[in-house]
Amino acid sequence: MTDNSLDKTGANILIEALQKNGINRLYGIVGIPVTDLARLAELRGMEYYGFRREDSAVNAAAAAGFLTQKPGVALTVSAPGFLNGLTALAQATKNCFPLIMISGSSARSVIDLSQGDYEGLDQYNIAKPFCKKAYRVDRAQDMGLAVARAIRTAVSGRPGGVYLDLPAETIAQENTESGQITPGIYQLVDPAPQQLPSDEAISRAIAIITEAKKPLIILGKGAAYARTEKQVQKLINKTAIPFLPMSMAKGLVPDNNKYSAAAARSLSLKNADVVIVIGARLNWMLSYGDAPLFNPHAKFVQLDIDATQFDSAQKIDAPLQGDLCSILNKLVPKLIASGYRASSEWLAQINADKIKNDAKFAKRINSGKTTPLFGYYGAIEPIADYFQANPDTYLVSEGANTLDIGRNLIGMQLPRHRLDTGTWGVMGVGLGYAIATAIETGKHVVALEGDSAVGFDGMEIETICRYHLPITVVVINNGGIYNGIGQVVPNQLGPTTLNPTARYDLLAQAFGGNNYFVSNYADMKATFSKVVDSGKPSVINVQIAPSMGKESGHIGNLNPQLNLAPL
Ligand code: ADP
Ligand code: MG
Repeated sequence: MTDNSLDKTGANILIEALQKNGINRLYGIVGIPVTDLARLAELRGMEYYGFRREDSAVNAAAAAGFLTQKPGVALTVSAPGFLNGLTALAQATKNCFPLIMISGSSARSVIDLSQGDYEGLDQYNIAKPFCKKAYRVDRAQDMGLAVARAIRTAVSGRPGGVYLDLPAETIAQENTESGQITPGIYQLVDPAPQQLPSDEAISRAIAIITEAKKPLIILGKGAAYARTEKQVQKLINKTAIPFLPMSMAKGLVPDNNKYSAAAARSLSLKNADVVIVIGARLNWMLSYGDAPLFNPHAKFVQLDIDATQFDSAQKIDAPLQGDLCSILNKLVPKLIASGYRASSEWLAQINADKIKNDAKFAKRINSGKTTPLFGYYGAIEPIADYFQANPDTYLVSEGANTLDIGRNLIGMQLPRHRLDTGTWGVMGVGLGYAIATAIETGKHVVALEGDSAVGFDGMEIETICRYHLPITVVVINNGGIYNGIGQVVPNQLGPTTLNPTARYDLLAQAFGGNNYFVSNYADMKATFSKVVDSGKPSVINVQIAPSMGKESGHIGNLNPQLNLAPL
């Protein structure tokens, strides 16, 4: 075997090893010591996308990982660039998105003696608790293997973020090691091996499910990532078990499927006697599986790649450990063969509640269209309408009320077409996600943002315009965090206050994109579809009334309330 990495710099080996594994894109921000690395990547045929803040670049790479099942790769400079990227590395890991964040760094000897380098920081050790694994490459000859380790770590088992620390020296160093047994650059064999549950574990789950009077399936973004749509749709359509999608699992089964229990969420969770959790965690978003949201006597069947997830909050009566496709390939045929179907009484109970709630919701939407006080429902209804007619459009969403109301209002019909604030419920991810989604899919993307949320990554509007991406950024502007009426004391702006007359759309104008301003339902209805269809980088500032919007959206219970009476 010849060593094809001989006489190459660390940078060359890095680029070739990534390409060998089908990774041909970098998201990043350059500077010392990675500028030429990005140039070389372009010269060698990689696409490089430059951002304005590292967290957006790393978020973009994370979204690419979620969408493609290959780790997205992000590149940053040392210390501050690295630290800016670190929040996104942590988020990707929390979200179980495969990602490799690569940062340039200083020589180990200088860092370890704390001698004070330009942007010197012990990045390798700092990164460790924020990712699945950190690796540092001190010799060019190890670069190929380091890439292999990073890829395998990111995608195998529970996916997550990997940090790769590249000292400036290693980037430029020539590999002179000729006696290597392993050639530095190779394609990984089976980077994410299948993991199958035992027959016994499957039988245990079948026994519990077939005894269920009121079964319920919860679908999480793990099921979306794992591309389980075929198996899950078969499972639901053949057994009539009602399902609830978590936000990023919307569209795995079309939202308008008759077994969707989304419009009867509380009732179905409260009454279900067997809950089948597929690629979701019983974390804060599901009240840890606790009563009163859940039936305290419910039994749980959970499907997850990570066995330590079982019993994290509830007793799991039938844990099924493995990759979701393999588990479902074993489970679904057996369950169908058993002839099990959810009872018509249970389906009728859910349907009755759906009809009641749908009527309430329709009323809210209708009044949103007609009320002179323009608010979320009036602003988002045209978007929901558009997605109904154009399901192969991607939606990225963040903000408090914008996120919550949009999630309920906008139906998704295709898997992995919705990306949002994820496991941490964090703001500032929207534009990075939107950029990668447009690049990776080539489809039109709508970034639905609150005016507060867009503040965290708004300068990426320049990135969107620079690359002429087909992204429509919609800023629902109520002039504040939660809302724009937050004054606490006279003569001082309240802590939640933003500028209610800010023209976020003009940012697009500054960078050569298209800008639109709407302040009523009719204008939004007339404008939105035209803008998205244009495929041009655009920002729509949707001016709603500052009084619109609840404190903390739907999760106000997490925000401690203090006695704010004046002394
Ligand atoms: P949501 O926020 O939608 O509820 P979570 O991110 O909480 O979803 O849960 C996703 C779960 O899916 C995680 O526990 C993760 O381990 C699991 N998971 C991710 N990918 C796979 C896979 N390929 N096979 C099995 N489980 C997976
Ligand atoms: Mg707001």
